[in-house]
Amino acid sequence: MLGQKLLFRGGTLIDGSGAPAQRGDLLISGNAIEAVGTFDPPSGIPAIDCTGMAISPGFIDAHSHSDLQVLGEKTEKLQQGVTAEVVGNCGFSPYPASEHRHELHQFANGIFCGDDSWGWKSADDYLSDVERKGKHATVGSLAGHGSLRIATAGNKMGALTSAELERMEGMLADALQSGATGFSTGLMYAPGSSAPFEELERLCSIVAHTDKIYCTHIRDYSFHLTEAVDEQLELARRTGCRLQISHLQATGRMNWTKQQQVIEKIEAAKNEGVDVAFDCYPYIAGSTVLTQLLPQDTLDGGIEKLMERLAWPSDREKIAKRTLEKLPHRWCDVLISAVGSSANKRFIGMTIEEAARERNEESIDTMLNLLAEERGEVNMISFNQSEENLRQTLTHPLAIVISDGFYVKGRPHPRLYGTFPRLLGFVARENKWMTLEEAVHKITGRPAQRFGFKKRGFLRPSYVADLVVFDPATVDSPATFSNPEVPPIGIRSVFRNGTLAL
Ligand SMILES: [Zn+2]
Repeated sequence: MLGQKLLFRGGTLIDGSGAPAQRGDLLISGNAIEAVGTFDPPSGIPAIDCTGMAISPGFIDAHSHSDLQVLGEKTEKLQQGVTAEVVGNCGFSPYPASEHRHELHQFANGIFCGDDSWGWKSADDYLSDVERKGKHATVGSLAGHGSLRIATAGNKMGALTSAELERMEGMLADALQSGATGFSTGLMYAPGSSAPFEELERLCSIVAHTDKIYCTHIRDYSFHLTEAVDEQLELARRTGCRLQISHLQATGRMNWTKQQQVIEKIEAAKNEGVDVAFDCYPYIAGSTVLTQLLPQDTLDGGIEKLMERLAWPSDREKIAKRTLEKLPHRWCDVLISAVGSSANKRFIGMTIEEAARERNEESIDTMLNLLAEERGEVNMISFNQSEENLRQTLTHPLAIVISDGFYVKGRPHPRLYGTFPRLLGFVARENKWMTLEEAVHKITGRPAQRFGFKKRGFLRPSYVADLVVFDPATVDSPATFSNPEVPPIGIRSVFRNGTLAL
């Protein structure tokens, strides 16, 4: 390809395949890589001295919730070296927006950090907008099951009619045909959580007719983790779809021993020919909407209905009892990370237990009262994994490392600011859980192949020049749970499509 040439001289080349790094040069021409390794560089072209620096492919965040932000000016990902993202995860995509747009907003805004203005009719509309306005990343988008379901039948729980099912199948096929990267489910979020196996089987069969991927936030990561993984493996076996289990973990200390069992199940399925893999983020805490802790049928009909139920004493009592029965967390492990109103801003950064003490209430009442006061708009960060388990998932050969990051009206999880540098620094260099080459592979070549980013993810001639130059001796993230909004250190420059982006 013709274009301006640029030489990266004397760096450590980490090519994205997991192979040992080598010293050498890298030449780009226009938006593509022209030569890698040892070659005679043409004379008289601009060069960057990369002595002491590592050069790798641009990082790919294969599980992100920046569906709205990829259209804007935000640079939190780019600063970490991310040049490509997969959005539309966990059943949440910003399309199809139908006459049920208000319900779609209620369903997704806690994850999208959105208002009531967004919405695209189809994957095609969304992707062309991203193409036109997105500045910082190449974006792949999964069609979200929850969004498809709301477009079909509104915020309604339970099995759909056969006409509704057919409509949803049509919408999914249409999304995949017009460029969606795959399909995602979020089976702990109403209304997707109420989908029977047969519904998922029909939808996964459509994915199986393509070379695209099915990603799933499974029905349960705690007490019923094993059954939830079984269900997904069975779906993949029956339909033949390519299966990606999202943010695999065992939540809550009484469930930590279950992780080993499910990893063995995944390995066995892989050995028998199921195309299965999983992903995980390099933190022991997760983050989502506080309504996640509720029995999801309490959200049947949307937030308005939940508000009515919470206002009715006998209903509220039942909700409290059922929430406590299935709660995998201790209240001291659940941090309030965002609220909608300014009146409750003072609770941001407190655990539910601390907020309850402040408010002179039981913890369960604080949780339900906050949900009532905020009309459901509360986000949480929950400390729920063991470090040993985290090490097992991160280092597993089937694992891709992802951020699962999302923006909130409050204090975000530090993964939004630090996932990728933390993997290279804290996880690989400091803890030596894996080599730097393996770490890079898990965020470049591997996700590129898994999610179909053609000509990206590797340092190879003719590949797109998405590149990160970083200092392997210092790269890391200083972002913490109490102070997350801090940029990484050690990322020197980021090139996207051959152009300096950072
Ligand atoms: Zn999820």
